[in-house]
Amino acid sequence: MPAWQLLLLFFSVLIGGGSGFYFQKEKKGLLQIVLSFSGSYILGIAVLHLMPWVFSGGDHQPGLWILAGFFVQLLLEQLSVGVEHGHIHAPHKFSNTFVLSVMAGLCIHAFVEGMPLSYYGEMHQAEVGAGHTHNHLLYGIILHHIPAAFALVVLLLVSQLQKKWVWLCLFIFAAMSPLGALLADSISIPTPWQKSILAFAVGSLLHISTVILFEMDSSSHHYISTKKLAAIAAGLFISILTIL
Ligand SMILES: [Zn+2]
Ligand SMILES: [Zn+2]
Ligand SMILES: [Zn+2]
Repeated sequence: MPAWQLLLLFFSVLIGGGSGFYFQKEKKGLLQIVLSFSGSYILGIAVLHLMPWVFSGGDHQPGLWILAGFFVQLLLEQLSVGVEHGHIHAPHKFSNTFVLSVMAGLCIHAFVEGMPLSYYGEMHQAEVGAGHTHNHLLYGIILHHIPAAFALVVLLLVSQLQKKWVWLCLFIFAAMSPLGALLADSISIPTPWQKSILAFAVGSLLHISTVILFEMDSSSHHYISTKKLAAIAAGLFISILTIL
């Protein structure tokens, strides 16, 4: 995996999170729009790009890994209070355990999701053709980790954690997916396992994207604003463009 991709991943998450220090209130509307877009884009690339490759062997095993990824993600969100889908749920009373639990939930997710990045780009290119150099998985991860980093920073600031510790948490989170990719690179994972790990990551992406789309309707009145609908449509449209 090219170094620029690792750097892009690291710095976009760092900048997305860093903006949480300056625009806590003003940017919440923008956060919702970015989230709506990323929810449908991630769902799109998962179904259009990642799943066909994962299932290309024709057996049932990848399905089991997808289910495992989906439900492990559900459990991880008990720890992280939903920060990975960009949500800042009810401010909690500050405690070190709370910060550790949020970080654990978020970092385990980001690390595992980073692993398939080390080989997905090349595999996809080998399958579809040499001119095909984009890395959907990379963009999918960046798109939801920017709002996640923002939500993490706002949540920790609201929880009265000191700024220097919030920065440290943000740094650790931003480093997780690149570290996962570097680890996977260094141990050169055998091909059947590559599929299983990607399938597991696809399961967590499916969970995150569907939760984003469900929680868009924050009032539970089956009402989604026009702006959000437009962002959802744009995410879907762009993900479909990638198969043309
Ligand atoms: Zn949520
Ligand atoms: Zn993620
Ligand atoms: Zn493609």
